This record gives sequence, structure tokens and C-alpha cells, in this order.
Amino acid sequence: MRPTRALIDLEALRHNYRLARELGGRKALAVVKADAYGHGAVRCAQALDDEADGFAVACIEEALELRESGVRSPILLLEGFFDTDELDLIDTHDLWCVVQGEWQIDAIGRSRPAKPLMIWLKLDSGMHRLGLDAANYRACAQRLQAMPQVREVVAMTHFACADELDNERTIEQQALFNRACAELKLATSLDNSPALLGWPGVRGDWARPGLMLYGATPFAGPHPVADRLRPVMSVESEVISVRELAAGEPIGYGARFVTERPSRIGVVAMGYADGYPQFAPDGTPLAIDGQPGELVGRVSMDMLTVDLTDHPAAGLGSHVELWGNQVRASTLAARAGTSTYRLFCGLKRMPRRYLGDHSRMQSRTSPD
Ligand SMILES: *Cc1c(COP(=O)(O)O)cnc(C)c1O
Repeated sequence: MRPTRALIDLEALRHNYRLARELGGRKALAVVKADAYGHGAVRCAQALDDEADGFAVACIEEALELRESGVRSPILLLEGFFDTDELDLIDTHDLWCVVQGEWQIDAIGRSRPAKPLMIWLKLDSGMHRLGLDAANYRACAQRLQAMPQVREVVAMTHFACADELDNERTIEQQALFNRACAELKLATSLDNSPALLGWPGVRGDWARPGLMLYGATPFAGPHPVADRLRPVMSVESEVISVRELAAGEPIGYGARFVTERPSRIGVVAMGYADGYPQFAPDGTPLAIDGQPGELVGRVSMDMLTVDLTDHPAAGLGSHVELWGNQVRASTLAARAGTSTYRLFCGLKRMPRRYLGDHSRMQSRTSPD
């Protein structure tokens, strides 16, 4: 079998969730959209179900997958419904729903849910993607609060630049949000991962951590709080071939790398079709049998090449970590000119192995 796989440490996921909740001070919805940023939404949500205050996903398809797998905690649809037909399913499966436009308020007003709905009303505080304008916000909130179809309204907004710790836009967005919510007496939700980790003055009743749950920092440099995160995913493979080459020999497509000395080159079963960044430059870090190593040559669809010259003990079958505990995903993403978000979401074609899954093991082996 191809030796390429992603190990997912569910104990690290729980550690990171607890850190998110500790930083936020109140409740936290674990964001598990896009298959839990490539980590497997069902397994991640099951591992957190006992302690998470709830989950957040991008669409009803993702929410139903979690419900079908037995997840009982609240699940918030971050973009609400795309089609009014979804309101029946939202009601049946007890989902929470963002409202980001006035047409959705009209649709809720015409709906007949069996149980009143939990609505998160989104304010556009400056990102200008989803949400209501500040000018309409209060009237929309009051309209929803007056509807028999609505149980509670939570006020939410989303930050555009919270990963830039010297960018004042976060404070401006917070101030605009506070003004729009004044006198409404709603529970609030502002923080994504960068706000939780880097903006201690920005807090609401509900945090919405995503990236940090998976152990990656959203910041460009070291950060005392983000450094407490534990990586959840390790992507690893093995050396499947070794070449001894003289100086001056080209390697791989486009002959991008040419050996400068007599070299031992290892071929690793990992390529851009697996989600490794196609344009990672020569010298991109990886770990070979636990030692720091380097990528050389262009990444192929199914393979990449590493320099083994300074790793005399390494050879066929040597273990290679592409990213994980030794090479942080954020380091690789920065070197390859991509983002950690994209790196995680781009994972493909490899089996995932889960570690630290004690809750499921117990429930499976328990006699009752
Ligand atoms: C994806 C998302 C989050 C989580 O963002 P991270 O930066 O991954 O923590 C929070 N809120 C909303 C509305 C989102 O779409």
C-alpha cells in the first residue's frame, strides 16, 4: 500500500478546543466546515461532542452529515440557508441558522417551524462580504425578536484582518458592532481564531474558532499564545527510491534543481495531487527520519524529491514528515506561498488515521 497518510491527533484537537474556550472566557463553537479543514468533520466532531458548546459549518449538507453520524450538540449554519426549502430540515434537525440578508428574514417570517429557531444575525462591520448594514441592523433584529418562529437572536460579525496584529481595522469593526448592538441586549459572537489568540480586548459570548482547533497559528511570526497550540495533523510518507548522482545533474520536471555536489536523492510518495504545494521552492523544510531535511526539485503530481546527501543513514523506506509536529504547517505554507487554511483544505487521496480516540473506543467496547 502507498505509505502516504495523515495522522490526526484527536487529543491535540481537544487540547486546542479547551484553549479556545479558555481564551474566549465563555462558549465556543468549534468550526468544522470544509470537512474540519481537511481533518475529517465526523471524527473531529465526535471527538469534541461531549465538551463542545456546539459546531459551525458552511452549509446544511455538512450539518446533516454530522447529525447522521450521531452528533447531538448544536450546529450553526454559518451562511444560513441558501434556499427556503432548507428551513424544514433546519427545524427537523435542530440546526442554528445565521441570517445574513433580509430575504432570509422574510422567509423565516413565512415559515412554520415546529420549534422556534435559534438565529444568529450577522452584521457587516466592514468586511463587506456577508451581513446586514449597520443602518438596518437594529430594525432587523427587532423584527426577528418579535416573530413567534424565533426563539433567540445572537448578534454576530466577522473580522477581515484579525491576523494582522497591528491593523486597527479589528478595533474599528468591534466598535461598529458595539454601536449597532447597543440597547439590543443580545448575546454576541465576534472571535475567529486570530481574534481569540491575538486580540484579548475583543470578546463576545460565543467564540467561533476554526484554524486554531487544528493547531495552526494564523500569525506570520511566533506568538506566545498561538505557541500553546498543538498540531493535530501530521502528513507523512516514505522514501520509495534513491538515486546517486554526480554534480551537475538535473532533477525532475523542468530540471529546476541541478546537483552542486555528488548527491543522494530520495523520491517520496507525496505530490501535489495529495495536496502538497506544487510550487514549494528548493529548500522547503521537511523531516527525514526525524531530522531536518529539504525538498529539491519541482513537486510532481504523485512524488517529490529530497536531498539525502547529509542523511547517510536514510534510504529506502525512510520516514518523511511533510508537515506536522516537526515542520509546522504554517512554516510550510509560508515557504510555499500559500496559506495554512489552503494547505489543510487541499488534502486529498490519502487515508487518515486517528489517534487519541478514547471516547469512541470506550463506547464501542462498553458492554452496555
Ligand atoms: C470560517 C469561519 C470562522 C473560523 O475562522 P478561523 O479563522 O478558521 O478561526 C469563524 N466565523 C466565520 C463566520 C467563518 O466563516
